[in-house]
Amino acid sequence: MTRWWTTDETHDPARTSWVESAQGHGDFPIQNLPYGVFSPAGAEQRIGVAIGDMILDLAACVKAGLIAQDAVLSHPTLNALMALSGETRRSLRRAISALLSDPAMQATVKPHLHVARECALHLPAQIGDYSDFYVGIHHANNIGRQFRPDNPLLPNYKYVPIGYHGRASSIRPSGEALVRPCGQRKAPDADMPVYGPTARLDYELELGVWVGPGNDLGSPIGIHDAADHIAGFCLLNDWSARDFQAWEYQPLGPFLAKNFHSTISPWVVTAEAMAPFRIAQPARPDGDPAPLPYLADADDQAHGALGLTLAVYLTSATMRAEGMAPMRLSHGPASNMYWTVQQIVTHHASNGCNLMPGDLLGTGTISAPLREGFGSLMELSAGGKEPLTLPTGETRAFLADGDEMTLRAVARADGFVSIGFGDCRAQVLPARG
Ligand code: CA
Repeated sequence: MTRWWTTDETHDPARTSWVESAQGHGDFPIQNLPYGVFSPAGAEQRIGVAIGDMILDLAACVKAGLIAQDAVLSHPTLNALMALSGETRRSLRRAISALLSDPAMQATVKPHLHVARECALHLPAQIGDYSDFYVGIHHANNIGRQFRPDNPLLPNYKYVPIGYHGRASSIRPSGEALVRPCGQRKAPDADMPVYGPTARLDYELELGVWVGPGNDLGSPIGIHDAADHIAGFCLLNDWSARDFQAWEYQPLGPFLAKNFHSTISPWVVTAEAMAPFRIAQPARPDGDPAPLPYLADADDQAHGALGLTLAVYLTSATMRAEGMAPMRLSHGPASNMYWTVQQIVTHHASNGCNLMPGDLLGTGTISAPLREGFGSLMELSAGGKEPLTLPTGETRAFLADGDEMTLRAVARADGFVSIGFGDCRAQVLPARG
């Protein structure tokens, strides 16, 4: 039986594409084939797949009779494609992989390729709902320690995949700048809060999980079946205003500190493409409780984590003006998650809450145990007390206007070709009003 870690000929490291730029491409070799929604210059948006430096227009391929797939590929978003069963999605992947690898197809398929840098990329799905979790245990420890030095993790953390409902309307694709938000903040020694631009703008390095087939209201998703409800993954920068957050978060949690803008990488790296890169969930430390039975599954523990390396880069306006390379702020593995992506799906639906195709779930900030792997400035600058020095000599406790953040991810496994997620990038614009 095909499970989410099963590989097939589409993952064969010997498979190559007649699209030349796909060979050795760090993000989009033929073993990846991520879906996205794009528009060639001036044209309407449609579904495509990234291959090397090109985008294959799947809607055009359907029209030309090159792919025998139903109407979902002609939609302007990926929601209907994401709703397909894993088996149907796998057969579509095999068909696309064959088109792009068979030299006999080159002349027929080539007219449907577009140069990626000449196209606009859009949100891949109409995101009905967005929820953000908090499964990066080192991040939870680091942040918790700033508030509660002796007791950083609250007692529920090791039982409940903690999360909150975020806002879908302000999620934007890579490349779209964000405006520094205004809001309420109160200095610890001040009598009154003030309203104005955030002085503690931060980024958060997260993975996004795209929901595939949904569940009916009232019907939970069993942990053994949870992977069947995941369509794919992206990078997610959960921009955060730390000063607003500290003042507003009690008692109901994050609100305006988090919902002013979230950036995602526009390509959906499919669950199918990630099959070779699934690894065992790291064992819990001795003394930690086992997950409750509804979150416990042997296959999930054996194959539920993601063999991904994540990295964060910053350029300031001055760095760009001087032609300097981006500064890498951190890097580390995505396995530093206390709960698997299947467990967050199961937990989200465990009360009968209905997930829908194209919903987006954030993992929460993923930090490694050591400073080189910290996934936010709040951690890297120790709450603003230890500013970073940039190559220009500028310092950053939090982000300045003109700063540009880029998140990257690469999946690697012995015996397979590495695949990447593409950029998750955005620049900070000054506050308005
Ligand atoms: Ca977050």
